Formats: sequence, structure tokens, C-alpha cells
Amino acid sequence: MMALAGPLNRRILIVDDTEGIHEDFRKILVPTALANSDLHSAEMALFGSPASAVQERFILDSAYQGQEALAMVQAAQDRDAPYAVAFIDMRMPPGWDGLETIEQLWRIAPKLQIALCTAYSDYSWEDMAERLDLGDRLLILKKPFDAIEIRQMASALTCKWQLAQDAASKMRDLERTIEERVQELLSVSRLLYYDVLTGLPNSTLLGDRLTQSLSQSRRHDCTLAVMFLGLDRFKRINNGLGHPAGDQMLKHVAQCLVATVRDSDSVFRYGSDEFVVILGDIQHPQQTRRIAEKLLAAVNTPHSVAGHDLTVTASLGISLYPEDGFDAMTLIKNAETAMRNIKDCGPNDFSFFIEDMNLRAHQQQTLETGLRLALQRDEFVLHYQPKLDLNTGQVVGAEALVRWHRPDHGLVYPGQFIPLAEDCGLIVALSQWVLNRACQQARAWQRQGLAPICMAVNVSAIDFRQRDFVQRLSRTLSETGLAPTLLELEITESVLMQNVEATVATLQAIKQLGVRLAIDDFGTGYSSLSYLQKFPVDVLKIDQSFVRDLSTDSNDAKLVSSIIDLGRSLNLSIIAEGVETAEQLAFLKRHHCEEGQGYYFSKAVAAEEFARYLADSPHLQTPPL
Ligand code: C2E
Ligand code: MG
Ligand code: MG
Repeated sequence: MMALAGPLNRRILIVDDTEGIHEDFRKILVPTALANSDLHSAEMALFGSPASAVQERFILDSAYQGQEALAMVQAAQDRDAPYAVAFIDMRMPPGWDGLETIEQLWRIAPKLQIALCTAYSDYSWEDMAERLDLGDRLLILKKPFDAIEIRQMASALTCKWQLAQDAASKMRDLERTIEERVQELLSVSRLLYYDVLTGLPNSTLLGDRLTQSLSQSRRHDCTLAVMFLGLDRFKRINNGLGHPAGDQMLKHVAQCLVATVRDSDSVFRYGSDEFVVILGDIQHPQQTRRIAEKLLAAVNTPHSVAGHDLTVTASLGISLYPEDGFDAMTLIKNAETAMRNIKDCGPNDFSFFIEDMNLRAHQQQTLETGLRLALQRDEFVLHYQPKLDLNTGQVVGAEALVRWHRPDHGLVYPGQFIPLAEDCGLIVALSQWVLNRACQQARAWQRQGLAPICMAVNVSAIDFRQRDFVQRLSRTLSETGLAPTLLELEITESVLMQNVEATVATLQAIKQLGVRLAIDDFGTGYSSLSYLQKFPVDVLKIDQSFVRDLSTDSNDAKLVSSIIDLGRSLNLSIIAEGVETAEQLAFLKRHHCEEGQGYYFSKAVAAEEFARYLADSPHLQTPPL
């Protein structure tokens, strides 16, 4: 038998104009041990158990007219204690008859179950059905009453009432659960179509929306612009200041873009640092130009991120419907190609798509494919540039600089492929190759009997963040046999300024191996004096841009002399890179800069040529002061 969820509702209303009938019901349904002993025995005889269970006691109320019954049912509902069953007499003059009463009661209590008590046969079922929507809420009880039938009926109907309540409550629970699931599903699909970080619609939604916008443009015969915007060198922010700062920056940029365009235009996050803007209803190209400029300016405002006021620039490509394509895919692809093109030619600018760009995009793709194969095909080569002691003119070190012998292209310089290698993840393998080869070369020169010099290798941010970086460094040193003190790692300021705690720990681990550390391109990043003191570095390498204009720009001259003083006060060695002229050298010597590197002495050369240079080095003449 089905278990009931709550206590049974045993409230029953008797509606009859004859007082004696009420008495009869009371005797039958509210039994006392004595009054009901006969009944009880009869039930035992009939069912083997008392059908109404002895402890079953009903709560009976009496009404003598239909109107009175209506008021009582209403009051019971208001008390939140409704009747489960009503026994209603068919004829109750002078008031409503049974049917009228039922009609009125069901208006306010549609769930009330009713047993209509009648001694007359002048009401046929058809008559009743015509007047009432009977459903399964009405039973007919013929007078004279049979006590067992009444108890059975009261018992069954109260039980049924409760079952109906339970079912309704379960149905409500089910509806609630379904509603919750539907809401959940709607927010699961939100994830499918919206970017969690910025809240912008994502590339999945872009296809749909652009197709819709295109069909509108087609219908109204107007121009539509797709703008593809990529942040310039964004990976440097991620690598430099960490991913949380990068995320914050992306949120700021997204907000700026949305604030710049009209409500009718839409902004999408397309890739990690890429956004697409759809501009409907373009009247003339000048309008697109103005919006592109506004978007670039919005991106290029200082963003307060991770305690820094950072600026970032973007490159923006534009494709137009119908000139550059008829469908969403082509327009997005062409806008992206225009963006990549402008990124290469000069970032923080925009460009309209032109057919030629497809060719450049193709070349870029070929470059990446070539780069992937270059390591396997042994196409990389190291050139070495000497570092000199400015007082003695002796070669004291070499910087290993990588070049790519690209088949059919000649020698390719690192500026053209290191950023790409960083973007596509090849940098780690390439850097390991460079480190290995540079250490082997230094040992080879020693074996040739040349004076031991310090070998410097450039380390990119991505290398430095590799968890096993120090371990691999140590292994390379022991495998090649190079003394750690003869290896120097050149790290840029931006690498040092990200995640300072972890950086200091890595630097210390490197120092423990005995390897020297230099800050490359010093003066171009954001190092502060307090940070410099924290880093266990040995050398500051003054960036060549300051050395270049030493004789013409007094600010640069002041900056270089200050860096030299700073280095001395922190007990660091100072080297100037990019020394090209005798005047620059004279300035550096006058300000007691210890070392120099640059075309004035030698450009980076192949290993054999460097060996000859090294052999001759003590005789190198430097101009007198
Ligand atoms: P960098 O480490 O600052 O290296 C100095 C760059 O300046 C080199 O260019 C060098 O040839 C050039 N240079 C040297 N003397 C002069 C001079 O007197 N005047 C001028 N105008 N330039 C001079 P290169 O070889 O093209 O390297 C460019 C950058 O590429 C390097 O800058 C370094 O950041 C990166 N790089 C080079 N090799 C590697 C490498 O093996 N691994 C990594 N991660 N980066 C590398
Ligand atoms: Mg360097
Ligand atoms: Mg440098």
C-alpha cells in the first residue's frame, strides 16, 4: 500500500436539514467503544479486520443548509484546515438542494469530495452530470444508510483526499525541479555562447550573429564592417606579470571596446587576446575609419592592473560586406588577415583588407612550418659577439646570438623568428639547443688553448618560467663540462618584474649553481631600485638605444652615467651594448663603464672567426681618453 506523506485529513462536513441524520453520522463515524461494538464486529466478520481501523476517528462538523455549509467550507479553507469529505443531503428545503450546494462548494473548494445522500430516485445520473462536472469527486449514497458503507466511504475518501494532496505536492516538487534544471541548462548554454572572463559573446555566437546581420544588410542593401582586433605582444603581459594580471587587462579592454561602440554594434571575444566587432549599417568607409581609430585609442589608454598603470596597443583589421566577402567565415578570415598584416608592419594601427594580404598570411604560415622543421634539420647556427674590458681592450666574454639558415632565404635574424617561436611554443626546445651549443663551443675554445671567457646566453620569459629550468641548466653544465662561473644568463627586466617572489627564488637557485646573471636591455623596463637590490644579479647591461644617442641626446648621456653610478653603488658590473663609435666608447670610458659590446669592436661572427678574434684580443687598440 502506498505510504501517505502527511497525517490524514479526517475533517468531514455533514450537510443535512434533519438533526437526526447528524446524530446518525456521529454515531457511525465518531465511535465510542460501546456504541460501535456491533459495527466493529460486523466489520470483522466482513473484512477480517475493521475496515476503518478502530483508532480511526473522524472530525465531524454539521451544517443544516447549503449556505451555511458554504460559509463553513470557506472558513475551514481560510484556517488552512479544509474538509476532506462532505456528506450532503439531496433535499434541504427551503434552501439550496444538494446539487446547488455542491455547485457552490466546488466553486470555492474544487478538491472537496462529496457523497450525495439521497432517498429519491427522481434524479438520474444524466441529470446530475448535465448540471455538474462530476469527475471522480462525487459519490452517491442511497438512504437509508448502511453504517458500514458510510465508514468505508469516509475512510476511502479521506485516504483518497490525502493521496491527491500528496500527488499534488509531488507534482509541485517535480515542477520546481524541472524549472531548476531548465535554468541550469540555460546557464550551461550561456557558457557555450559567452566568454566567462569578459562576459562577451564568444566566437560560437559570432558566426550566428554575423550571419543574421549579413542577411539584414543584404535585405536593406547596406554595408557591414567586421573588425578583428588583436592585442600587441599580449603574451608579454601574461608572461611578465602573470596570468591574473593578464586576465584583468583583458577585462578592462573588453569594457573599453563595449563602451566605444554603439548599442547596435556587437563586440565578441574571439580568441585569448583577440576581439571581433560587427558594425552594421555603414554609410561610408570614413565612418569605419573613425570607429577603428576610436577603438585603438580606447585600448591604448592606461589600465590600472596589478598595481601598475599598464598600456597595451592593438592591431585592427577590417573587412567589408559586400566588397571583401559575402559570408561570415570569409569576412572574419579576411579581417583577421588584415589584422595580422598590420601587426607585422607596425602595431597600434588598422588596415582594410586587400587581396594581397592573403599572400602574406600564407608566407607567415610557411615561416611557422619552416621553424618547426628547422630544429630537426639542424638549420640553426650560433654567432658570437665579443664583450670587451674597456680598460685593457681584452675580450672577456661572448654573447651567443642565434641565426636561422633558412633554405632559400639565407640567414634569418632572431627578431624575425624568436617572437614566433615564443608564440608557437618552440622556444623552449630552441633555447635548450642554444644553451647546449653555446656551452659546448666555450669548452671547445678552451680545448683549443684560447683564454677562458664568459659565455652569455639569452633567456626568454617562457624559458625562465619552465619548472625544470634550473634542473636542465645544471644538467647541461655537467654534460658539457663548462665551469658554471663561465656561463652568464641574460634576462630582460620584464622577466624579472613578474611574480617577484618566485623570480627571486629561481635566480637564487641559478646563483647557487655558480652561474652569472645579467639584466639585458637595462633601462627599458620597469625595475625599481628596491627590486634591483632583491635580485642576486651580477651585471647590468645598458640597452643599446641609450648608447646610440649618447653624443646627441644629453638625456641619454645623463641616463647612462646614472646607470653606471647605480651599478657601482650596488656593486654590479656594467656593460654597454650597441657601442658603434669612438665617441660613444670615449664617453663610456670617461664614466668608468667597465665593459662594452658593439659593432665598433665586432659584430656577432661565426665560431671560427670569433676564435681568431679572441686569439688576437690582447692587441686590440682602444682609443686613448
Ligand atoms: P640582445 O640580447 O639585446 O642582443 C643584442 C642585439 O644587438 C643582437 O641582435 C646584436 O647583433 C645587436 N647588436 C650588437 N651590437 C650592435 C651594435 O653595435 N649596433 C646595433 N645596431 N646592434 C648591435 P640580434 O642578434 O639580431 O638579436 C636580437 C635579439 O634577439 C637579442 O637582443 C635577443 O633579445 C634575441 N636573441 C638573440 N639570440 C637569442 C637566443 O638564442 N635566445 C633568445 N631567447 N633570444 C635571442
Ligand atoms: Mg642579450
Ligand atoms: Mg640587449
